[in-house]
Amino acid sequence: VARGGKLQAPRGTFDVLPEDSRRRAELRRRCEELFGAAGYEMIETPAFEYTELFARGVGETTDIVQKEMFTFEDQGGRSLTLRPENTAGVCRAYLEHGMHKLPQPVKLWYWGPFFRHEAPQAGRYRQFNQVGVEAIGSDDPSLDAETILLLSELLELTGARGVRLRLGSLGTPETRRAYSDELREYLRGREDELSADVRARLDANPLRAFDSSDPATQAVMRDAPRLMERLNAEDAQHFAEVRALLDDAGRQYDVDDALVRGIDYYTRTVFEFTSDALGAQSGVGGGGRYDGLIEQLGGPHTPGVGWAAGIERILMVSEPLAVAEAPQVYVAREGDDSTQAAFGLLRTLREQGFSAQMEQAGRSLKGQFKQADRLGVKAVVIVGGDGLPVRDMTSGDQRDARDTTEAIAMLREILA
Ligand code: AMP
Repeated sequence: VARGGKLQAPRGTFDVLPEDSRRRAELRRRCEELFGAAGYEMIETPAFEYTELFARGVGETTDIVQKEMFTFEDQGGRSLTLRPENTAGVCRAYLEHGMHKLPQPVKLWYWGPFFRHEAPQAGRYRQFNQVGVEAIGSDDPSLDAETILLLSELLELTGARGVRLRLGSLGTPETRRAYSDELREYLRGREDELSADVRARLDANPLRAFDSSDPATQAVMRDAPRLMERLNAEDAQHFAEVRALLDDAGRQYDVDDALVRGIDYYTRTVFEFTSDALGAQSGVGGGGRYDGLIEQLGGPHTPGVGWAAGIERILMVSEPLAVAEAPQVYVAREGDDSTQAAFGLLRTLREQGFSAQMEQAGRSLKGQFKQADRLGVKAVVIVGGDGLPVRDMTSGDQRDARDTTEAIAMLREILA
């Protein structure tokens, strides 16, 4: 933690400094606008939940639950976990607050920090931020298309580079179980070609073999039977409808029949947006349908669909979103007893709706004008000397105001 005696932020975390903070605020503003216009309302859930929620919601055999959770006990001995994702938390809240009694679907979005104990690298952190949407309470294919298009539009709005959409369908749990058995049989037949961790998970979750980065395993997977060829008629129809809606919207995608996401709750539609502007961690955001999740959490059968995207990754692939906003007025000071007068004027200006700064670091008058230039203000008022000079920083014109009222009138003129 402390190298050379200096304290640093914990491994895998980062500070958001003002420039970055501005870009985030702008991204969030665009999310609010985009999602709000589509009827999605914001939800905030706790940053930690009972561990059981993720064990049941995300899946015991997933990497997230097996290796990546920050888990600790509260003082009463109950196991808590810093949330590694939010679909489980949002569904828990949906159930806990009886949102099934509201008109369906319930459309929600969120923004906040998430935690995974992963090996840090570029674009992969232990505390990161996600923005996400969830549409709960209907299995209408238009919701799959709508949520996908929302992420697509968000990425377009930010000028994200090199974006690709991969789309697949996982069918129902029954189809998946039958397919899982079929795939397991196939993999058993070529077990000696598989990597050790894929072999270790053959019983629990053979589908995860598609995620493997081991070349020999990948070669085996190229000839493996595909889930999408085994979909039942209803699921195939649902997928065809989602595709037709995306086609109508002009959204291009690649159907990827090996798309398996690292979370157990997905059914039917799954998708992922990637960007070649990112390195090895190319995922910008992804999600899918989770028609069985709420039941798994102890609720009634309730379909849902949604996605999460990494805020850091969106910013990594996007155009600069925002520039610093310059204050309008700078209150400069002359003489040693100008503090009260300058601070009083500063407050008045702010009350009158100006964005204003005053000298607070003891600079010379020349230094103060330099600072006013650096800040990019349109006007400077000098307090504490003779009169109340107001300078138009664009033209360089300077006039004396008789009092604060007149100074404000002059400022309004300059800023008009
Ligand atoms: P997931 O819930 O794993 O599908 O993640 C959704 C999105 O969150 C990914 O596409 C990434 O953009 C982002 N993400 C996931 N894990 C991390 C991480 N450790 N660091 C930064 N971003 C992440």
